[in-house]
Amino acid sequence: MEGALTARDRVGIQDFVLLDTHTSETAFLGNLKKRFSEDLIYTYIGTLLVSVNPYKELDIYSKKQMDIYMGVNFFELPPHIYALADNAYHTMMAEANNHFILISGESGAGKTEASKKILQYYAVSCPSTTLLDSVRDRMLVSNPVLEAFGNAKTLKNDNSSRFGKYMDIQFDIQGDAVGGHILSYLLEKSRVVHQNHGERNFHIFYQLVEGGEEDLLHQLGLESNCQHYSYLVQCANVTSINDKNDWKTVRNALSVIDFDESDIQHLFGIIASVLHLGNVQFEADSKGYATLNKNTELRWLLGINVQVLQEGLTYRKIEAKTDEVLSPFTVDHAIYARNALAKAIYGRTFTWLVNKINDSMENKEPSRKTVIGLLDIYGFEVFYVNSFEQFCINYCNEKLQQLFIQLTLKSEQEEYEAEGIGWEPVQFFNNKIICDLVEEKHLGIISVLDEECLRPGEATDFTFLEKLEEKMGSHPHFITHKLSDKKIRKTLDRGDFRLLHYAGEVTYGVVGFIDKNNDMLYRNIKDVSLQVASQFKSSLLGLTDILMSKEPWYVRCLKSNESKQPGRFDDVLVRHQVKYLGLMEHLRVRRAGFAYRRRYELFLQRYKPLCPATWPHWRGVAAEGVEVLVQHLGYLPDEYKMGRTKIFIRHPRTLFATEDAFEV
Ligand code: ATP
Ligand code: MG
Repeated sequence: MEGALTARDRVGIQDFVLLDTHTSETAFLGNLKKRFSEDLIYTYIGTLLVSVNPYKELDIYSKKQMDIYMGVNFFELPPHIYALADNAYHTMMAEANNHFILISGESGAGKTEASKKILQYYAVSCPSTTLLDSVRDRMLVSNPVLEAFGNAKTLKNDNSSRFGKYMDIQFDIQGDAVGGHILSYLLEKSRVVHQNHGERNFHIFYQLVEGGEEDLLHQLGLESNCQHYSYLVQCANVTSINDKNDWKTVRNALSVIDFDESDIQHLFGIIASVLHLGNVQFEADSKGYATLNKNTELRWLLGINVQVLQEGLTYRKIEAKTDEVLSPFTVDHAIYARNALAKAIYGRTFTWLVNKINDSMENKEPSRKTVIGLLDIYGFEVFYVNSFEQFCINYCNEKLQQLFIQLTLKSEQEEYEAEGIGWEPVQFFNNKIICDLVEEKHLGIISVLDEECLRPGEATDFTFLEKLEEKMGSHPHFITHKLSDKKIRKTLDRGDFRLLHYAGEVTYGVVGFIDKNNDMLYRNIKDVSLQVASQFKSSLLGLTDILMSKEPWYVRCLKSNESKQPGRFDDVLVRHQVKYLGLMEHLRVRRAGFAYRRRYELFLQRYKPLCPATWPHWRGVAAEGVEVLVQHLGYLPDEYKMGRTKIFIRHPRTLFATEDAFEV
């Protein structure tokens, strides 16, 4: 019938690998957009899942949907996050090895939502015994708790993760989810004491103040009014957030993860203390030194000796050779010390909370377990003003992109070469040059920052910038006011440096870098002096090691528009993300390549029952056995290639047909 749309016209192609004009970015975007307009937010590139944030609730996450996807071959149903979760799970079970799902995309693209959906899928659809139900419940409720303490409203996202999270879900040999473990990365503590215009503090503060029961607030000396607390005065009401309801959810969740009444009292006592601390005010005495404002009440600051605190907030302890001398603070110093203490208290409470959650999800059985790791880490961020926090966050994204490149684009091509498979190389931008710029020993930005931090009293944010200019000067991804031409100079302040990240340009203001990197509490409050960026660097290296030892799956989340509107697809914004996430390159590698490869021994071991010549034993060389086996199964010459140690299969559907042959 003329004019009638075929299903393909209407809903687009569900796997980009099958798109006819596969090299065209415009065709790629056209397909995404077409699907998006039909509320089809998921599309594959082979086994990689692309997800576009719909900014509206879709009826695709019910238990019924989960059941539909359970145990069904990946490409047999429309693309879904459940299909990816299910495929990872079944591969883990079949091969008894560890996997991870890397969820990436910029702030607000839908990473946290995706990770929750995957966790729910495992919790609901994996086999269950009543004994294990409690572990599952704990895994599930760990989310609202960690989000309350670690997420906040930003300009990009009303529920933005302000910490990185890696969660291992452990499965026993029967496939039961039996335990979990969380690693958290670099909580943005500075938010406790300062929020940019239009942003909020961590959700938990508003939840407690708005939703806390009268008795509890009374005990903690809190008023039920955010405006009363200087750390919360900004932007208390957000239409998408219901602090009162969320408070109930969190309270309930805490009891599920074994928080007894005393833990809860302790926890909220500390949260309240942070709010009280924020209200501590100082005045200058006749000599200009800080004293506590007369109206300040310290009694609500739980567990801290009032006199020590008072001293700690207004004096610095200087250690002389044999003695200690107290040197008074100015008001500015006192405010700094107060804020440093508030940040440190909150940071430690968060770590304690993660540990408590881990204890409650721990599985002490010594039996063998395999894991699926879920990585949901803060997305690439560009604000009008970018500081140390954005520098760390964007560096982290740079590292994850590098990992993606290594595990897919690079290693894939290297493997074809090593296995002697004929191959036309695909060009891609390797962001290693930017990772090196940030992290290289002695030369990178972090090293320069650390060196400056070792010159207390002499180094400032501006000497740090000068050192950077000296060392990085001609680097193609580094620009400052001094080093640039007239045209670019207009766009930069003297205190800025700009990095050309893989995902785009970001201009960082250096103010605060030294301080935040030191993360130093004044000495008599607590003797800590960490080098923050270096620590972060080594924890990221640790994470890379964890991931490298597992089989990867990818979810790439795209933000559909900046204004969080349902159904709006901003072509320019999406095109930019498609570009920097390297989706076109990935597609080219996938299309030209082979979706599945296995060592001959493993392949033979699994499929030998399907051929009389290989069953029960193949006595010769494994590669020859595989050849006999696939001939018997009727593989066409174009469908597979024999490498040096592995068989390569072009399309998963060939393998699915082989799997199905077991059931015939
Ligand atoms: P950040 O890096 O800031 O933490 P993020 O990528 O984790 O961002 P999310 O918090 O997952 O972003 O998503 C932002 C918002 O987008 C959600 O609060 C929700 O309103 C909406 N959203 C995301 N994914 C979906 C989805 N699959 N269905 C419906 N709404 C979604
Ligand atoms: Mg998030």
